[in-house]
Amino acid sequence: MTAVAMDLAEIQRLENEHQPPLYAKREIALVRGEGPYLFDSDGRRYLDAMSNYGVAILGHADPEFAAAMCDQLRTLATGHQSFYSDVRAELLGEIAEIAPDGLSRFFLSNSGAEAIEAALKFARVATGRTKLVAAKRGYHGRTLGALAATADQKYRAPFEPLSPSATHLTLNDVDALDAAVDDQTAAILLEPIQGEGGIWPASHEYLQAARAIADDRGALVIADEIQTGFRTGSPWAIDASGVKPDILVTAKALANGFPIGLTMFTEAISTAIPAGAHGTTFGASPLACRAALVTLRALRERGLYARSAKLGDMLMRGLSELNSPKIRDVRGRGMMIGVELKERVTPTLRGLQEHGVLVLPAGATTFRLLPPLIWTETQMDEFISAMDTI
Ligand SMILES: *Cc1c(COP(=O)(O)O)cnc(C)c1O
Repeated sequence: MTAVAMDLAEIQRLENEHQPPLYAKREIALVRGEGPYLFDSDGRRYLDAMSNYGVAILGHADPEFAAAMCDQLRTLATGHQSFYSDVRAELLGEIAEIAPDGLSRFFLSNSGAEAIEAALKFARVATGRTKLVAAKRGYHGRTLGALAATADQKYRAPFEPLSPSATHLTLNDVDALDAAVDDQTAAILLEPIQGEGGIWPASHEYLQAARAIADDRGALVIADEIQTGFRTGSPWAIDASGVKPDILVTAKALANGFPIGLTMFTEAISTAIPAGAHGTTFGASPLACRAALVTLRALRERGLYARSAKLGDMLMRGLSELNSPKIRDVRGRGMMIGVELKERVTPTLRGLQEHGVLVLPAGATTFRLLPPLIWTETQMDEFISAMDTI
């Protein structure tokens, strides 16, 4: 069986006619993927340096992943959490292996924003408080609860009032955090490295201060690792600071493209959650659990955590050796890298796309690399040569 073959004009006509105008579209239709590459409707090949916002962490059409998903579809795809499931049990065991110390309870859902919603609800019931402290440039999703934590006015303004809204502080300003967190604060919510906001790392000192301040005021620390998860050299970016969060949220890469969200938290928080206080029909289905299980095993068995650290170092070195007059700064860790330009980013995005390389913007002057962890020196060289020509 083959997919319906449509030409680009027809694809564009149907999408433009029937989708709301929410997305600025790039002028190609992606129809196929293979490892580190994507192919458009004209058969043109692209090096994928964005893996759909960091989702396709094993690359596209991974044979082992595809075979496992087909097997699960033929066995059992859907099943509610009011029944036990062998695949779900296996996945929970695998998650427990990589969970930060002290986080032993896991809620599975279907997206990043849903995982944040769960974290916010659990923080509220566990503390009996509603105030939230987050960071300027922070991004936590666009459902109403998650949006209250997201900083950017572009996303917030059309939907105000967002109740209760988070207080947004300058990242890495410890004094501001100390002044803002009080005995009404339920949680401090932070990305260890801000993704959408432009690849801005929270300093280890800042994360450590957040932990100390939260402990002092009886608030919780929530780490949003939806984007950082699995690609910074270890499962969690916050580990590098030594800080133990009360809640850790992840999503994007967890199931290599199958929709999923994961909220991990302490036994103490779990005890405070009343039965029926939260739930999801699709969440933790056998199919979703199989996707995450195969992904986590592949990351571990193929040594991809260590590999992401090594590849990331090589990429950052390659970028700085370009000595490009356009580049102001290169930031990041592992395979999560931001390249800040001295000019607006759109012409560079377009130029790279014309040279067969897809990258993502992260703010007006920065582009982001979130490649699959299966890159080899071949893909590194392809990327660096494309950068050199634009
Ligand atoms: C993508 C993202 C989200 C939202 O996830 P969705 O699956 O798009 O809802 C939240 N937080 C961070 C840090 C993200 O990168």
